[in-house]
Amino acid sequence: MKVMKFGGSSITSGEDMKTVAQIVQQENRADRVVVVLSAMKGITDLLISGAEKAECGDLQYRDNIEDIKKAHLGAINDLFPSKAQSEIIPQIATMLNEIEELLHGIKLVKECSIKSLDLIMSFGERLSCTLLTAYLNSIGCKAELIDARDMIITNRQFGSAKVLFDQTYKKIPPLLSKAEGIPVVTGFIASTENGITTTLGRNGSDYTASLIGAGIKADCIEIWKDVDGVMSCDPKLVKTAFVISELTYQEAMELSYFGAEVLHPYTMIPAIEKGIRIRIKNVGNPQAPGSVIADIDKRHTTQITGISCIDSVAILNIEGSTMIGVPGMTAHILAILAKAYINIVMISQASSENSICLVLKESEAMKAVTILNDELSNEIKSKGIAGLGLKKDMIIIAIVGENMRGTPGISGKLFGVLGEEGINVYAIAQGSSERNISLVTSKKDKDAALIALHKSFLED
Ligand code: ASP
Ligand code: MG
Repeated sequence: MKVMKFGGSSITSGEDMKTVAQIVQQENRADRVVVVLSAMKGITDLLISGAEKAECGDLQYRDNIEDIKKAHLGAINDLFPSKAQSEIIPQIATMLNEIEELLHGIKLVKECSIKSLDLIMSFGERLSCTLLTAYLNSIGCKAELIDARDMIITNRQFGSAKVLFDQTYKKIPPLLSKAEGIPVVTGFIASTENGITTTLGRNGSDYTASLIGAGIKADCIEIWKDVDGVMSCDPKLVKTAFVISELTYQEAMELSYFGAEVLHPYTMIPAIEKGIRIRIKNVGNPQAPGSVIADIDKRHTTQITGISCIDSVAILNIEGSTMIGVPGMTAHILAILAKAYINIVMISQASSENSICLVLKESEAMKAVTILNDELSNEIKSKGIAGLGLKKDMIIIAIVGENMRGTPGISGKLFGVLGEEGINVYAIAQGSSERNISLVTSKKDKDAALIALHKSFLED
């Protein structure tokens, strides 16, 4: 059995859906498959901005509904001959009416909670799955729509709900085995124990696929994207970047946390737990082998597996004698930021304890400075903290790979390459897992740094 997830950015029209259906039909001959599908491209965004407009009393939310309608009716036109359209159109129309009623209600009360937004967003996946199921059946490939809300159970943290694994894993197998034909499951959406709609966070359909794979102990979870696989570096900047054919779960996690954006970060959790392989495939190039993410022993021949990069970060440096030998100072600073919902991307502190260097998203940096100046005003007045320094226009570059563990000389080479290019490094972090060395450098050096590092670690 295998789970095949198709999504978002690769489905813009009925033609794309036909391609997906062809792949599903083909694969279903060899294996039993379960399909997970996310909303058509741009639909979730339209639902969200429609809700935002309605909340402000802006009647243009109706344009959003119109755009959603156009996308789906357009797809219906591509997929079905006119005679067959009369069966599917009413199903879509019912859902569009429900969206209209919900947004009208929001316009009246001028309030849209995240709970309501989850229900509104759920229509994206329900619409796309309705179309694909009907199309598969129309080409003689028996399929049944399965609403993930009947099996993926979460807590009430709307917007990015946490899965209740025991209940979810209990519900998945019986529901899927009852399905007549290929189950087509709505990605992204779930429900609370009481049946209230929740979502798993943006791009959560990958995670849905992985939960289902774990629930049915599938042999493989295939995530079909519009790229050939996990790339060794951003191919837009580094022309010689290549598809990494095999990588471990941990490497994939390091790379996706670090902006490679191949997978929703939670996707790996159920797969690791049940030891299920994940394969990344390209809808536009189904013959290509893609990337396999699994518990792989065989080490790569290269010293590192890939390079990733996070743009638009800032360094916040906090310096002062208050911090030396005082337990709890770092905790205090981090707690202040946590209370303000400011996320810290990277931390480094030297053993002199004289300064702490935090790396934050640039968009949150000013807010962080203001809040810290305020909350630490006593320490600043008494000169225990000398001051806060902010450096903008920074990026994080990380080299990632299992082979780095226990191999001397990697960081020497890393900084040697950057040194030769005349690139300054502002901060460094390496966890004891040794799978990742991250450094902060200036945005203007991004291209040169990535090209030089890729060349010396992955090409030579
Ligand atoms: N449709 C949802 C989103 O756009 C989920 C997904 O794409 O996986 O975030
Ligand atoms: Mg998506």
